[in-house]
Amino acid sequence: MTKVLFSAPDSNWDEYKEVLPRAIAEAGVTATITRDSDAHDPEAVDYIVYAPSSTLQDFRPYSQCKAVLNLWAGVEGIVGNETLTMPLARMVDYGLTEGMVEWCVGHVLRHHLGMDADICRDDQEWVPHVPPLARDRKVCVLGLGALGRAVAVSLRKLNFDVTGWSRTQKAVKKVRCLSGDAGLKAALASSEIVVLLLPLTSGTENLLDEERLGMLPKGVVIINPGRGPLIDDDALLAALDRGHIEHATLDVFRIEPLPKGHRYWTHPNVTVTPHLASDTRPDSAARVIAENIRRGEAGEPFLHLVDRVAGY
Ligand code: NDP
Repeated sequence: MTKVLFSAPDSNWDEYKEVLPRAIAEAGVTATITRDSDAHDPEAVDYIVYAPSSTLQDFRPYSQCKAVLNLWAGVEGIVGNETLTMPLARMVDYGLTEGMVEWCVGHVLRHHLGMDADICRDDQEWVPHVPPLARDRKVCVLGLGALGRAVAVSLRKLNFDVTGWSRTQKAVKKVRCLSGDAGLKAALASSEIVVLLLPLTSGTENLLDEERLGMLPKGVVIINPGRGPLIDDDALLAALDRGHIEHATLDVFRIEPLPKGHRYWTHPNVTVTPHLASDTRPDSAARVIAENIRRGEAGEPFLHLVDRVAGY
């Protein structure tokens, strides 16, 4: 009998308590699922289904655990944990990806079409603002992983002129793919709308600092559903204040929830959304976890393993 420890807050358990056992059974694995609040023998645990907000931080007692299966895509809260020596898999699932695509495309279209001018119209002036066609709008997607690539492809299907940037060189049909420092400079210099879909690592923290924000053309829009610390907040606010950045739509923040009174809440050119760009969907995510448990039991390689050195 395979033993699974569900190490995540009550709210997660409420979402997974029916779909996870069903998905594991459908994957052909006979398992028991224990919660970390229940009495259990750590040495008997085969898999840990994990939310980084869990209280479990010391993985050493789980000496026989074959893998830690993260419920979230981002692993910055756990990847540096030195007690976690077993394989760590992150969440990649179509629900998460589709949600992110919809959110990013929606917010890109908002700025591309200049929708605010119509939605917020109170001057009773009949002044049409005709936007350019998408083919004439340059959108840059920083990060071409599971989410960034899907967003880039979807924007391309709408005909946007899309550039993508990643650590290693990628090839995505009809998307200009760049990598490395020179690639980042070129990507930023030609952007009208920038979407950040990078993980938070030592290599990406403060990626958009004063210098790189200065490389962006005046009037650019920044959309960040990646992670808050990818952007230097003071540098962004200064660039917004002087009109270099036209607008920032921010879903993620250095401190979450974004503290009351933070300038982002009231800045006229900032849209704050409360980390909702895309959420793990329990139904499909449970099947991803179940598939990894099946693989572990069959001795097959795990899906979506985190590169502990790269940090994502
Ligand atoms: P992936 O790991 O699949 O992709 C990460 C991408 O970032 C890859 O293309 C990678 O390059 C690139 N990258 C990483 N480090 C660097 C670097 N130093 N320089 C340049 N490129 C780099 O992640 P996902 O696409 O699944 O997710 C991305 C992030 O989105 C998550 O880490 C999380 O922070 C965020 N997220 C936010 C959500 C929200 O609701 N706001 C929901 C889900 C995720 P390469 O391809 O070469 O490896």
